[in-house]
Amino acid sequence: MDELIIRNKYKVVDRTTFPCDACGACCSIYALVDLHITDIFRMSEKLGITPKEFFEKYVQVIEKDGAYTFAMNIEGGCKFLKDKKCTIYEARSDFCSFYPNSHSCFDLSQVQKKEMKPGNPGCAAHRQPDDLILVPDLERMVDSRIFYMVKETYLAQYGGVYDEEGMKAAHQKGLSQIANPRMRNIVHLQVMTEFMENIPVDEKTGEPALTKDEVKMIYQKMRENHS
Ligand code: SF4
Ligand code: SF4
Repeated sequence: MDELIIRNKYKVVDRTTFPCDACGACCSIYALVDLHITDIFRMSEKLGITPKEFFEKYVQVIEKDGAYTFAMNIEGGCKFLKDKKCTIYEARSDFCSFYPNSHSCFDLSQVQKKEMKPGNPGCAAHRQPDDLILVPDLERMVDSRIFYMVKETYLAQYGGVYDEEGMKAAHQKGLSQIANPRMRNIVHLQVMTEFMENIPVDEKTGEPALTKDEVKMIYQKMRENHS
């Protein structure tokens, strides 16, 4: 995405321009990485094992108030981190690939810095100007939303149990839904609505950093990037 300057103040840039130092800290200081079913299939393929083997070895089933989710425990360092590098980088989870963006929105750099784990002061995010807005890949975000919904449907049916047929069906469903233009349009609308509802607040002014029209303009720009 070409650089976009808003009100001569906020610089909006593509997530790919983030100058990551590849220090590996973010793969060690958090406790859990959220996993979608598609992540499980992609990561197991990369490792040359079955999704069931991956599930048994690496997936932690989290239960809270009767609701389940799948995650990977990375406390003390992710098992796939070697010499500060991710050994399954191309296959890493959606959650990992969006970092340091939040999973769901675009972020103002000053907010990212504040939300960054205290144990991660060395992250390159701290060197970003406060008024920078990093936007993730919109289409990948839409994929991720669809995979999230598919996972939720699976969890509602099977809880935290690995069901071979259910897993395969959910994986296939995710792949077919991300290829369905109607589904994508529905999710695009949801994403747009969430952008509107989660406009970052500029801590220096205490005001929303962007107007709704500016959010729409950024969203449009993100879409054009893929057309
Ligand atoms: S899968 Fe890779 S990117 Fe994700 S936490 Fe592990 S080492 Fe880091
Ligand atoms: S902590 Fe920041 S700089 Fe280090 S690898 Fe993670 S994103 Fe990159």
